[in-house]
Amino acid sequence: MDARSQDTQNRFPIGDLPGLRALATEAVHAGREDLVAQGLHAAPIDLSTTYPSYDSRGEAARIDAFAADGGELTGPPVYARLGNPTVSRFETALARLEGTESAVAFASGMAALSAVLLARNALGLRHVVAVRPLYGCSDHLLNAGLLGSEVTWTDPAGIAAALRPDTGLVVVESPANPTLAEVDLRAIAHACGSVPLLVDNTFATPVLQRPAEHGARLVLHSATKYLGGHGDVMGGVVACDEELASRLRQVRFATGAVLHPLAGYLLLRGLSTLPIRVRAASATAAELAGRLAADPRVARVHYPRIGGAMIAFEVHGDPHAVIGGVRLITPAVSLGSVDTLIQHPASISHRIVDEPDRQGAGVSDRLLRLSVGLEDVEDLWTDLDGALGAASTDGERRTEEVAGR
Ligand SMILES: *Cc1c(COP(=O)(O)O)cnc(C)c1O
Repeated sequence: MDARSQDTQNRFPIGDLPGLRALATEAVHAGREDLVAQGLHAAPIDLSTTYPSYDSRGEAARIDAFAADGGELTGPPVYARLGNPTVSRFETALARLEGTESAVAFASGMAALSAVLLARNALGLRHVVAVRPLYGCSDHLLNAGLLGSEVTWTDPAGIAAALRPDTGLVVVESPANPTLAEVDLRAIAHACGSVPLLVDNTFATPVLQRPAEHGARLVLHSATKYLGGHGDVMGGVVACDEELASRLRQVRFATGAVLHPLAGYLLLRGLSTLPIRVRAASATAAELAGRLAADPRVARVHYPRIGGAMIAFEVHGDPHAVIGGVRLITPAVSLGSVDTLIQHPASISHRIVDEPDRQGAGVSDRLLRLSVGLEDVEDLWTDLDGALGAASTDGERRTEEVAGR
């Protein structure tokens, strides 16, 4: 392999193209193959809600075909809820990066998970087996049975025993939000047997982990996070085989949680820098995780074996004072942006999970979640150091107050 290649690990075959291409190359080119022939450089944004057609017999046949098998519409678009060319580009590119046949985009990560649950429920497969922790709202959606599903929570070793004849889905996150706990995807896929395994790959991104290679049948992203990457677009996507994708398209058409074309454009653009953003932020995060682990004010650091740009850590002092003490880092929920964000999961991202379940999943009240961005590592450390200092003096003051009472 050429010594100048930055990407010796992530090379894989692309469709029927000859040879192997690196992920970084695919990230820039996938979903744009037709542009040169059209005399275009940037992908066009198609904002049409409807499309003219003089051939209603032809349209009837195409709609019949979609209703029968949910396959992607061939020929010109019909109506924006059925499909949009700008959004399709993003879907094509994401499927390429995840190494799946297809991908179906939605208005948000939660809309994507909802569509998967509805598609399984429609087959009478209402039972879901899931491993905690999951993102707070995913946990809530499953636990509250809002869409009529019933969940059994288990650990990875208990999955096989938890399966029932009506189990339609197994759900895991790895690294998980917010503790960064990792599971063995290959072993879990094996334990699932014929039940589809859904892996939420939001934290890892296809740059660090491609769950389909380990046997996952559905790979879900909150595209709002790393895929968009700039904190200015909301979206969700499921990468999977065409059989499952066609069911998801039918659900999307019938329930309407479509991704806006402008969001599709921004997500396609986001993918082109995904590998470089994830690698740069991960290098900074690894350095910060090391410094936090060596800091006496920090009780525990969770940093994934596969790396990444997320860090979770528990402080001895008051976690709320750390949030109140940052100046460069943005105190905000969400993650995966070019700027570094910090939040307190027990107060925000996982607040909706009942406290015992939250604690049981390892989300302690002292846990903070840091999404490392692209700033200089020394500037970030200076800010964290100051915020930790504020938290520990606060903690000491509080201890003194209690002692003096
Ligand atoms: C944010 C998030 C979601 C939900 O995505 P939205 O785009 O906010 O709907 C799902 N899974 C994980 C791991 C997330 O971090």
